[in-house]
Amino acid sequence: MRYEGNIYRPPSEAYSLIIQATIGCAHNECTFCSMFKDKQFRIRRIEDVLEDLDAARRSYRRVDKIFLADGDALVLKNKDLLRILEHIKSVFPECGRVGIYASPQDVLRKTPEELRELYENGLGIAYMGVESGSADILKAIKKGVTPEQMIEAGRKLEASGIKASVTFISGIGGKRLWQEHARETGRVITEMEPSYIGLLTLMVEPGTELYDDISSGAFELLSPEEVLAETYEMIRHINLKRVSVFRSNHASNYLSLKGDLPGDKDQLLARIEQAMADTGLLKDERFRML
Ligand code: SF4
Repeated sequence: MRYEGNIYRPPSEAYSLIIQATIGCAHNECTFCSMFKDKQFRIRRIEDVLEDLDAARRSYRRVDKIFLADGDALVLKNKDLLRILEHIKSVFPECGRVGIYASPQDVLRKTPEELRELYENGLGIAYMGVESGSADILKAIKKGVTPEQMIEAGRKLEASGIKASVTFISGIGGKRLWQEHARETGRVITEMEPSYIGLLTLMVEPGTELYDDISSGAFELLSPEEVLAETYEMIRHINLKRVSVFRSNHASNYLSLKGDLPGDKDQLLARIEQAMADTGLLKDERFRML
């Protein structure tokens, strides 16, 4: 396999074979994100992707899951994605699931029939960074879509059979917008009904617009206690009718939380209350990482 630059994948794809279908991110404008700032976006030649799959077959006896990188490989035309998925099926018949990063724009661009076709050919899960349910925050971080479009994209994935795994960022509204972030994110999750919900906590690296805003004082980071209060409010506003897996156990989080919503809602809130009363339960700043 030939990898270009740093490779990112969701935590749940830690044991997957990773294949780059694109290099970088087609959007690449989010103010908090440093992942692909060093890469000029391009779609790889499909023949190169297929060759990488063949090379991986020669190296690995068994591959249960494959993840298509980089930032939003769903940007590929369906005919190209289908070629890749068909090749995976013939070369890795044991592979049980193919995953992909998707921007909401990619999902909205595809028709329900196209998404269904991808699902029927093995695409099982799409990871989408929603970040916040607040219209003001999505605009400020240059996500490029509205909360309503986020909801539409998540629902469209789920309707096609592809599981939507969506992530949000604690603290992305800063001190000024944390309440709106909590409330509106709860609303968006409730209306989207994704299969998986992930919550990270904001960490900002030099070279991003948000880093400069923090340095100038234009954006104020939340304290760990404020992050807890925000997460509490967010979960309080999630009122799902179908089951979603909720995880806030990323290396960036101060407090590890996991459960199924709506069933474990009271238990999750109780755990946050416990941490509010005993901040010794929170991860030390030195051990947080992206
Ligand atoms: S957050 Fe996602 S969509 Fe935004 S620039 Fe980073 S990789 Fe691209």
